[in-house]
Amino acid sequence: MSTRVAVVTGGGSGIGEAISRRLAADGALVAVLDRDGDAATAAAASIEEDGGKSVGLAVDVTDRAAVDAALGEVGARLGRPTILVNNAGVSVVGPFLEVTLETWNRMLAVNLTGTFHCCQAALPGMVEEGWGRIVNISSSSIHSGSAGMSGYVAAKSGVVGLTKVLALEFSRYGVTVNTIPPGFIDTPMLRQTVEQGYVDLAAQTAKTPVGRVGRPEDIAAATAFLVSEEAGYITGQILGVNGGRNT
Ligand code: NAP
Repeated sequence: MSTRVAVVTGGGSGIGEAISRRLAADGALVAVLDRDGDAATAAAASIEEDGGKSVGLAVDVTDRAAVDAALGEVGARLGRPTILVNNAGVSVVGPFLEVTLETWNRMLAVNLTGTFHCCQAALPGMVEEGWGRIVNISSSSIHSGSAGMSGYVAAKSGVVGLTKVLALEFSRYGVTVNTIPPGFIDTPMLRQTVEQGYVDLAAQTAKTPVGRVGRPEDIAAATAFLVSEEAGYITGQILGVNGGRNT
C-alpha cells in the first residue's frame, strides 16, 4: 500500500484493533479512534512498537463535533485520511417486546448514525484527493436475522443500505464503499453475547463449514483487500467473511 492515512473506529478492541494492526503492517498511517481512549492509545502505542505509525484518540462516533475534531487532528498529525473503516459497534440483546426506546435509539446511534457521521466527515477530503476507500463493518445477522437483537440488526441493515447509496454517489470520485458482514468472530463482544446465553458457540461452530470461530484477523485481511489499490473496481458490495455459513 502506498502511504495512506487510515481511520479505524472502534479500533481499541477486537476486530477494529486487528484491522488497525493489519493496515499499519501494510504501510498505512493509522488513526485508532475509540470511545475507550485508553484502549485507543494502547493500540496505537503497540502499533508504533511494531514499527508502524499510529495515533490513538478518544472519540464517541455518536458525537458529530467529536468526530469532526478527531478527523481534523488526524489530518494535522498524520495527513488527510483517505481510508475509513467504520467498525465501532455495540450490541444489546433482549426480547423485542422488552426493548426500550432508549436501547433502540442507542443501537441506531452507534451502529448506523456513527457510520453516517464518519462518512460525512471523511468523504469531502476523499473527493478532493480523487481517491478513497470506505469499509463499513455490518453483521451476518443482516442476512439471517438474530433473535433478541432487533435494534442491532435493524441498524446493521441500515449500514448496508447506506453503503450501497454512497457507492453510487461517490464512485465517480475514485471512492469505493463496501461492507463486510462478519460471522461469529472471537472478540469481547461475541464472548459477552455467549455469556448472556444468546449464542451457543459450539452449535454455531458445528454449522460453520470451515469448522472454527472466526478470528479478528480474518476480517482484517478482507478489509486490507478492499482498501487496496487493486480493489478499485469493487464498490457497493457485501463481502461475507463467515467461514462459509449460508447466512
Ligand atoms: P468489541 O471487541 O466490543 O469492539 C468494539 C469497539 O468499539 C470497542 O472498543 C468499543 O468500545 C468501541 N465502541 C463502541 N461504541 C463506540 C462509540 N460510540 N464510539 C467509538 N467507539 C465505540 O467488538 P467487535 O466484536 O470487535 O466488533 C467490531 C464490529 O464488528 C462491530 O461493529 C460489531 O457489530 C461487528 N460484528 C462483530 C461480530 C463478532 O462476532 N464479534 C459479528 C458481526 C459483526 P467499548 O468497549 O467502550 O464499548
